[in-house]
Amino acid sequence: MTIRYKCRHCETEIGQLPFDSIDDQFLLKNELTLEEQDSYIEHGTEGNYTVNCICEDCQKSLQKFPNYYALKKWIQ
Ligand SMILES: [Zn+2]
Repeated sequence: MTIRYKCRHCETEIGQLPFDSIDDQFLLKNELTLEEQDSYIEHGTEGNYTVNCICEDCQKSLQKFPNYYALKKWIQ
């Protein structure tokens, strides 16, 4: 089982982690509500998870154009 990290904006795969390296504290540390977990984490087939996060490129764009991404997020 693996956890894949994918950019929620450009869908670039950022990386993968073996599931074993993530413990239950992972979500607690990120202080996500259950609702947020649903939107950030996709439960895929075969017990794999995809975490929707943000890549470095989009992070930079986000800092430059915060309004653009805020708008896009609302539309989605
Ligand atoms: Zn990205």
